[in-house]
Amino acid sequence: MSPSPQDRAARVAAELAGLGLALPGSLTQRGMRCGWAGCRCHRDPPQLHGPYWQWTRKQAGKTISRLVPDDQVDDYRQWLDNHRRLHELIAELEDITLAVADQRSGHQARPRRTRQKTA
Ligand SMILES: [Zn+2]
Repeated sequence: MSPSPQDRAARVAAELAGLGLALPGSLTQRGMRCGWAGCRCHRDPPQLHGPYWQWTRKQAGKTISRLVPDDQVDDYRQWLDNHRRLHELIAELEDITLAVADQRSGHQARPRRTRQKTA
């Protein structure tokens, strides 16, 4: 027997409760230019400093970014993974709820079901 919608929703809620910190956006590596004009990073072709880790996110059309120290990269990865999982769980909860709503409307609101064509 498959689990009831309530059981599935409870499992989603339990995982949500244990998820921890969550951060949207992405983590990339990039080279940087410094402020000293005589530096190798300003030559042609440039030899950029780094690479450095950078966290980026789009918010209301604007890109927000910040440099992430190497020793914090693992934390950021975890937070980004949690955020992805958070949205998967929300989508799952919506699916479960929609299935319940469909079932109810099938029983109550729709007096007659659409006839299925037989082959
Ligand atoms: Zn430089």
